[in-house]
Amino acid sequence: MSASDLSRRPVVVVETAKALRDAVGAARRSGLKIGLTPTMGALHAGHQSLMHAARSECGFVVATIFVNPTQFGPHEDFHRYPRDLARDLAACEAAGVDLVFHPPVAAMYPADHATFVEVAGLSNLWEGKSRPGHFRGVATVVLKLLNLVTPDIAYFGQKDFQQQAIIRRMCRNLDLPVEIRVCPIVRDADGLALSSRNVYLSAEDRAAALALSRCLQVAAGMVGGGETDLALVRRAMRKELAASPRVEPDYATLVDPETLEEVDDCPLRLAAIVAARVGTTRLIDNLLIDRCPPCAQS
Ligand code: AMP
Repeated sequence: MSASDLSRRPVVVVETAKALRDAVGAARRSGLKIGLTPTMGALHAGHQSLMHAARSECGFVVATIFVNPTQFGPHEDFHRYPRDLARDLAACEAAGVDLVFHPPVAAMYPADHATFVEVAGLSNLWEGKSRPGHFRGVATVVLKLLNLVTPDIAYFGQKDFQQQAIIRRMCRNLDLPVEIRVCPIVRDADGLALSSRNVYLSAEDRAAALALSRCLQVAAGMVGGGETDLALVRRAMRKELAASPRVEPDYATLVDPETLEEVDDCPLRLAAIVAARVGTTRLIDNLLIDRCPPCAQS
C-alpha cells in the first residue's frame, strides 16, 4: 500500500500501547516515515497546522490526544479542560492524520509509575515559576510518547515557546533519535494566538486578551525600528499590558531563544514572551524578533 493510499484511509483510533506499536510497526515496515503530533485535544487550526506539516513530510501521521494529568497543578484546570473526542477525531481526519492514540490515564500512569524527567534550569524559568512541576509533567509525557511512537519527526508549536525549547533540549541531552520540528503560531485574524483555553474567555476577556499580541507587536516595532535599550522595550511591553484593566500581567520580557535567559545586549535573534491572566484564564504568547542589520552590526 502506498503512502497516498494510507493517507486516504479514515483515521484509526487506538487506546493501547500494543495496538499503537503494531500499527506504527506495520507502517514502518512498508517504508513509511513516521510523524508525531502530540496534543491534549480540544483541537483547533493551530494543532491542525502541526498535522499538516507532518502530513507533508511523513507517510504515516500519528496524533496523540491525551490530557496529561502530571502537567497540571492541583489548582489548575485538569478536570474542566475541554474534551470532545468526536470533534477532535473529525479535525484529525480533516488534517490527514492516519492514527490517533488516545490512551486512558491509568494506561499512561499505572499505579506504580515513579519515573519522571526533568530538564533542569530551563524548566524553572517563566512558566515554570508560575506552574511548579508543569514541565516535569510535560517532559515525562513527551518522552513516553516518543518512546511509544518512535517517530522520525515530532511536531510542536512555537506557541508554547518554553515547552518546545525544553523538549528540544531533552531530546538532545538524552540522544533521542528523533527530529523536532517547531511550527509557527496560528492566530485569529485579530492577532489572538489560538489556544484550547480561549473557550474559557468571555467576550470582554476575549477583547482584553488582545493586549498580549499587542504587547509583542510593540516589542517587535521598537526592536525592528533599531531600539537597542531593551529595558526600555520591556517597559513599553508592560505598559501595553497594564493598559487593559482585565489583564493581570505575569511576565513580559525579551529572552535568548535557546537559554530563555533575559537578554540586555543585541543578539541577532531574540524572543519576546508574555504571560498574563485574563479574567480567570492564564494565557501565553510569544514572538521571535530578528534585529535590524545596523543594530546587529554595531
Ligand atoms: P496542546 O494541545 O495545548 O498540548 O498543544 C499541542 C501542540 O499544539 C503543542 O505543540 C502546541 O504548541 C501546539 N499549538 C497550540 N496552539 C497552537 C497555535 N496557536 N499555533 C501553533 N501550534 C499550536
